[in-house]
Amino acid sequence: MNWVIKINGLQREYTVGDSVIQALNGVSLNIQKGEFVALMGPSGSGKSTLLHILGCLDHASAGDYFFEGVNINQFTENQLCELRNQRIGFIFQNFNLLPRANALENVGLPVLYSPDPDQWQNLAAQALVRVGLKKRFYHHPMQLSGGERQRVAIARALVTRPALILADEPTGNLDSARGIEIMSLLTDLVKEGHTLLMVTHDATTAAYAHRIILMKDGRIVEERRNIQRQENGPCG
Ligand code: ADP
Ligand code: MG
Repeated sequence: MNWVIKINGLQREYTVGDSVIQALNGVSLNIQKGEFVALMGPSGSGKSTLLHILGCLDHASAGDYFFEGVNINQFTENQLCELRNQRIGFIFQNFNLLPRANALENVGLPVLYSPDPDQWQNLAAQALVRVGLKKRFYHHPMQLSGGERQRVAIARALVTRPALILADEPTGNLDSARGIEIMSLLTDLVKEGHTLLMVTHDATTAAYAHRIILMKDGRIVEERRNIQRQENGPCG
């Protein structure tokens, strides 16, 4: 199997004053290359904590994390930074674009920190064309609609050709028509071979995924294959 992610018994505790909060309480999960996994669960169940650890924005308190077969537990801050920059793309609910930078600059930013910084304009232009924004290279976020802003953010997530895309409520700030357009774009990217883990509150949005995982109180409590999506799934 070609695993992008393998995690085993992940724990994450937060200490606030005298009390210890067990945000993750033994989470194990494997994600195969080309898979689209939706992560659901009530508020406070640990979804964002898990996403942050998978995205190397935070450390687990215990447990193992293998990224593309390599145990990253002992990685230095620099190695984690490099992994995050080159192998992982992020899509957020509120787009997180730089307001003073145009679409091309926003998308090209991760390339500036890659081994091939001179390529930033080429690669950013290709990614913007891929998400349907050929005519918006020089627009600033303020001059774009919500759906267009999320497309810019998706282009930025793709630009380094990452092994994994992490999305936290990518349609949460969009109207339903724009939400459907974004989900259809993400589904196409998965068909092209991208691997996607998406947090969502919404069952209709989760229904685009191959697999739906439900979290509660820092644990995975249910896992379900989405039969309707399996014909396009990574297992064939
Ligand atoms: P979800 O994304 O599913 O709503 P979170 O992962 O944000 O859940 O939070 C899981 C639990 O950990 C919650 O009880 C939350 O209050 C707690 N938590 C999250 N981040 C922190 C933090 N930085 N400090 C203290 N507690 C936190
Ligand atoms: Mg959250």
